[in-house]
Amino acid sequence: MKTFNELGIREDILRSLEDLDFVRPTPIQERVIPILLADHADAIALAQSGTGKTAAFGIPLLQSADAGSQQTQALVLCPTRELCLQVANDIAAYGKYVERVKVLAVYGGANIETQISALRKGVQIVVATPGRLNDLMRRGRVDISAINTVVLDEADEMLQMGFQEELNAILAETPADKNTLLFSATMPHELKAIIGRYMTDPVQVTIGRRNAGAENVSHQYYVVQAKDRYPALKRIVDVNPDIYSIIFCRTRQETQEIADKLIQDGYNAEALHGDLSQVQRDTVMNKFRRRNTQLLVATDVAARGLDVDDLTHVINYNLPDDSVNYTHRSGRTGRAGKTGISIILIHMREYHRIRELESKLKKSFSKHAIPMGAEICEKQLMKLIGTMKNIDVDNRQIDPFLPAVMESLKKLDREELVKRFVSVEFNRFLDYYRNAPDLNVVERKNRQENRADREEKKPGRKARDAYDRKKQDSESKVVFEGKKRRDESGDAYSESSTAYSRFKINAGKKDGASPSRLMAEINEIVGDRRIRFGKIDVLNNETILEVESRFAKKVLEAFQDVMIDDEPVVIEPANDEVIRDSGKRGFRRKKPPADRSGGNDGRQPYMGRKRFDGNSAGRGKMSKAKRSKPMRGASKNRRRKQSL
Ligand code: ADP
Ligand code: MG
Repeated sequence: MKTFNELGIREDILRSLEDLDFVRPTPIQERVIPILLADHADAIALAQSGTGKTAAFGIPLLQSADAGSQQTQALVLCPTRELCLQVANDIAAYGKYVERVKVLAVYGGANIETQISALRKGVQIVVATPGRLNDLMRRGRVDISAINTVVLDEADEMLQMGFQEELNAILAETPADKNTLLFSATMPHELKAIIGRYMTDPVQVTIGRRNAGAENVSHQYYVVQAKDRYPALKRIVDVNPDIYSIIFCRTRQETQEIADKLIQDGYNAEALHGDLSQVQRDTVMNKFRRRNTQLLVATDVAARGLDVDDLTHVINYNLPDDSVNYTHRSGRTGRAGKTGISIILIHMREYHRIRELESKLKKSFSKHAIPMGAEICEKQLMKLIGTMKNIDVDNRQIDPFLPAVMESLKKLDREELVKRFVSVEFNRFLDYYRNAPDLNVVERKNRQENRADREEKKPGRKARDAYDRKKQDSESKVVFEGKKRRDESGDAYSESSTAYSRFKINAGKKDGASPSRLMAEINEIVGDRRIRFGKIDVLNNETILEVESRFAKKVLEAFQDVMIDDEPVVIEPANDEVIRDSGKRGFRRKKPPADRSGGNDGRQPYMGRKRFDGNSAGRGKMSKAKRSKPMRGASKNRRRKQSL
């Protein structure tokens, strides 16, 4: 293991690392920093989240910045505004003693004029979200022609968020001889296309096993009935009195709901999702970072900006749609050499998802029983006793009251006294769990569960076995998903009731509109990539777009202020199928569309994605001239958000 000193880092940067208490480089820093400092080469660095990737590229960027020039020399692209801010702040911290080198974060949802005037003053390192940077490029407000390094941070996530086209546009405008550095926790297929297209002979550094969860995370799943998901969550929290955890939910609505319930039930919990203003989100994150909040209920996207090191658990209230997100979630615990636990609540019919994860992550997941009341009470009681034993007694303050207290308690013997003191704190649990039922699913011995049982008894089994079984599972998967729709139609997580609103937009191919650009624009403004899109037809002069009805109002708002060539974009309900709801929810369909099956299998957040592959001919041909006139999205909505 080397020291920072031995990596060739300049004195002024070393000083700031000392201030930050960075004693030694992390493995990815040790490998990547010397490469970036010495070589002018493209590089790919794959490492789990929390392994210190920001400094791995941030330090070399600072060190090679030319303070004598005001031109933008390095560009870091990040998927969300939170990450963008965090990365910019981190780099600024490493560069605290580096004189005359400026770092700026530019991201959507903040006033673009402020960002433009900051850029005008000359910034050597720009950290940006792809959406906002494109916007600035189209306005001619950012000059990336002298860039010598582009960093794609969390590249996998940027692609997942639908930024592919923005990335293409950005990379196409940077000088050909720049270095492209790609940092990612996972290596999905789409990333390989970017690498093939934009990188030349990249040096690759992989720390740990990519595509795998952190080594010291144990993965545990609990099987529950749909109606018991929340009570089971409470039990898991109760049986871990010192829990410090993020609870991941799939939608913002669910996130808020679970947080509200927990708060109502007396837990120290808060919600974090895209419906909150930036200021609210910052407040929530800061409280959680300082451990003033014990349980953070969050969506995947919102939690990405949060850098917290020592979570005891990550709880998957629902499984995410794909394994990449699961890797990101579980990577939030087990950091910095500590052990962590990733807990998953699943429904019986989701066994196959566990098998899929096992084979993708090459890890085995263990099934656990939902704790019973007695076990929880014992844990809580011992925690209480522990706290009591360790408490500092301030004798000076207490002593004066003691004679009266002693007098009042003198009839109680020791045992009685202990019981009563314990009860003061503990009755809440005793009451709640007095007649608490067993929440574990009674095993009906069907094929699937028997298989799960057998696996349970073979803890050392190889992930490859799980992979072999996947083929069998995939047959039954179709059946199970079909069933899920029918049987659980009352379940909030059922996909079958998704309603779509159809809009017509007076912008089409000739204006540079494309499905991915529209989706990325909408996602960035609404701030949640779980919005489902239906069919997106980009015609030459107009676009027909289907959006999940509950977001209809937001989408309308988002387009209020979008301009093409100084002409406002007009968005309107597309046909008479769409009716105005009581006003609160914008637009919705009278009835769900007859055929949803082609667009969405219920597991792909972007239903439009497949379709517009069919449109890609148009996208590929889009000329530069056309690129210069497409959508600008400085919507009122964004400004409003910021002013909250
Ligand atoms: P990643 O981008 O790989 O997810 P980050 O760069 O956000 O990880 O770093 C995770 C955390 O580790 C941050 O809090 C960061 O300040 C801290 N960190 C990074 N490098 C070091 C180091 N060498 N020593 C101690 N802490 C570090
Ligand atoms: Mg990072």
